Amino acid sequence: MSETLFSKIIKREIPADIVYEDDLSLAFKDINPQAPVHLLIIPKKAIATINDLEEGDRELVGHLFLVASKLAREMGFDDDGYRVVMNCNEQAGQTVFHIHLHLLAGKPLGWPPYTDRAKQA
Ligand code: 5GP
Repeated sequence: MSETLFSKIIKREIPADIVYEDDLSLAFKDINPQAPVHLLIIPKKAIATINDLEEGDRELVGHLFLVASKLAREMGFDDDGYRVVMNCNEQAGQTVFHIHLHLLAGKPLGWPPYTDRAKQA
């Protein structure tokens, strides 16, 4: 798998506003936030898409969600509410092929979350 910019963020080769790190994961602010809080939570292991997950990644994926709930609690928006999203491949809008949870909070979030790009075309 070719290296993505998220691998470079993990290695501190490009800058990011990192808010959390542990042995398995890293969380940092999205460069183009879609809500007052928009964090990306990534595994340090490079996995391109949800389709590439293996049985052995079960605990790692659970860990990403635990990091999301920990950050929500520590940043104080756990009770108000938040959204956790992972896009997979082109039609879902995935642009960086290193899996990541989007953690969005800080305002009422609309549902459904995205406009229908096919209808707009
Ligand atoms: P995706 O579209 O793959 O689900 O999400 C990729 C996210 O990465 C986007 O929300 C985009 O704004 C964010 N992003 C892209 N490049 C950078 C970067 O260099 N730094 C940071 N912090 N976020 C980035």
